[in-house]
Amino acid sequence: MKRLVVAEMTWPEVQRELDHVKVAVVPVGSCEQHGPNTTFTTDTDRAYEFCKLLGDRVGGKILIFPPFGYGISMHHMDFPATVTLRVETMIHALTDIAESIGKHGIKKILYVNGHGGNRFVLDAVVNTLKYEYGIEAYWSSMGTNLSRKQLSKEMDIPDVIGHACELETSQCLYLAPWLVKDTLEAGEIQNDSAYVQRLFKDGNAAWSWRYDVSANGALGDARKATAEIGKTMTDISLEYMERLLDEIIRR
Ligand SMILES: [Zn+2]
Repeated sequence: MKRLVVAEMTWPEVQRELDHVKVAVVPVGSCEQHGPNTTFTTDTDRAYEFCKLLGDRVGGKILIFPPFGYGISMHHMDFPATVTLRVETMIHALTDIAESIGKHGIKKILYVNGHGGNRFVLDAVVNTLKYEYGIEAYWSSMGTNLSRKQLSKEMDIPDVIGHACELETSQCLYLAPWLVKDTLEAGEIQNDSAYVQRLFKDGNAAWSWRYDVSANGALGDARKATAEIGKTMTDISLEYMERLLDEIIRR
């Protein structure tokens, strides 16, 4: 059965398919700088294109909604055109989306997250939905850490990656090549990797990406990015996501 993508459908088409839709899938991204390498919609488009491929695999079990294109990016505000939501705004918006979807009879929702800064809010959202609204909600990242282990056999991956780096840019080249600029640059790292890793663990807002982490906004070395690496990453993540969906549907 072919994928069900709300942006590609009319309401009568959705109506005809609703009976076998088990899970609503909502991609979640950001409007955030990605160094000189990829554009502001990197996280949003990556998550959306990934969800469409997931739909190609699993067909009518899931209904894919348009991406939520803003997130928690306070730590990137030193770069122009980055937009951040307040934590409570994002909780409210994602809760409203889940409540609306629930009213149409889809009782399970999976947020697919393309932006690390959103993680702690998604934890709050799924708990709020479950305990305050009785909606069964889940969130998952796109599996960069999963694929890292396999890829580290084939390439040298620095300790600190995950943003406008070789891995994220590879995934863009495979999933959404329109995001990627022709002239790629390595990250201009401001501190040693142990310090930066501590910052990442200790929260998202109390430091500046530009002055504490990377002067040009990138990590790693995007010049090493290839579409082949991106495909490997995506295939690993898609397999993981298919298993997760099966578990969610069986519950
Ligand atoms: Zn990103």
